[in-house]
Amino acid sequence: MKKELVGLSKADLQQEMLALGEKPFRAKQLWHWIYNKGKTNFADMTTLAKPFREELDTLYTVSHPKIITEQNSVDGTRKWLMEFADGKQVECVYIPEADRGAVCISTQVGCAQGCKFCHTGTQRMMRNLTAGEIVGQFMSARDSYGEWPTPTDETRYLSNIVVMGMGEPLCNFENLKTALLIAMDGDGLAISKRRITVSTSGVANHIPELADLGVKLAVSLHAPNNEIRDKIMPVNRKFPLEVLIEACKEYQRRCERRQFITMEYVLLKDINDQPKHAEELMKLVDGLEVKFNLIPFHSWEGAPFEASSNNAIHRFSKILESNWFAAPVRRSRGEDIMAACGQLKSAKGTDGTVSRTQRPTNESTEK
Ligand code: SAH
Ligand code: SF4
Repeated sequence: MKKELVGLSKADLQQEMLALGEKPFRAKQLWHWIYNKGKTNFADMTTLAKPFREELDTLYTVSHPKIITEQNSVDGTRKWLMEFADGKQVECVYIPEADRGAVCISTQVGCAQGCKFCHTGTQRMMRNLTAGEIVGQFMSARDSYGEWPTPTDETRYLSNIVVMGMGEPLCNFENLKTALLIAMDGDGLAISKRRITVSTSGVANHIPELADLGVKLAVSLHAPNNEIRDKIMPVNRKFPLEVLIEACKEYQRRCERRQFITMEYVLLKDINDQPKHAEELMKLVDGLEVKFNLIPFHSWEGAPFEASSNNAIHRFSKILESNWFAAPVRRSRGEDIMAACGQLKSAKGTDGTVSRTQRPTNESTEK
């Protein structure tokens, strides 16, 4: 079987070329074709000698996840179902903002964390994604928008990466790290580390390392105390709030510059949305620099919770804001195409059932 080049670190690619008896310069050229130009055929890599291109073709592949379906939301959100070489699939979403936008990528097929409010959490964990599959989602998104070669930071549409799709990123840390280092590389995809955010359910042991990578941190906090968090997020039994908060402090100590942490908080009716919970939450984050991101609960079939009322959400937000915390309510994006937080679920290759996302709809275009 041919070896996949997407996902090899720069050093590993260089090693690979050295083993073929090539000069390091070849690895540099190849890197440019793969990550700056976005080419997947060796034949297109015209700065390489023809016999060398042919040799590469017998040994390697350069592939992006295959786009199976593409759906466009009325609000401009675009969602893809992407498939990897073994047929496993994940969903990937582009979320446009006023002048730029973020590609939301996944790190696992399914998720083992089993958060009770999360649609992905109801799926069996199938496997970790490779580094190439993680960064490849962003590359397929660029294919979809035709953003090759890498545009300047100011002119590109796909400007940010948020690791907020399926799976717990910090349970696949080595591959995540390799993928993000590739994404950040200035000779290739050139996404500034300041435009990358990793969201974790609270796998505390790896949190400080995100500071070393220089990326932003978002924590799915969702509860003001261990009693509530234990009930809705099993990860809390392994890394209780005191451990999680300490890891966040260590992250901030290790960051080069002052760096806020985004605390995500999904509002569940009567579970965590009362004024006393807001008060307790503020005490919990004492000593940290945080912004809250309040997320209305996005319901799904069979979900064991109800969304908080708008009144309850705004009351909660007001309490935090009157104490000088930023606490915006996250606008729901792409809800009409099941692209909102916690609604991602792969359509096939996981539990064998066909999910709602796979049903043909008017917006869905088979590729
Ligand atoms: N696994 C990572 C990142 C992906 S989830 C994590 O848990 O942080 C992205 C965000 O959506 C997380 O904050 C997650 O807790 C939240 N989320 C999950 N299910 C949701 C739902 N049904 N409604 C609203 N937000 C949800
Ligand atoms: Fe996994 Fe994140 Fe969903 Fe929890 S919220 S089950 S960690 S994807």
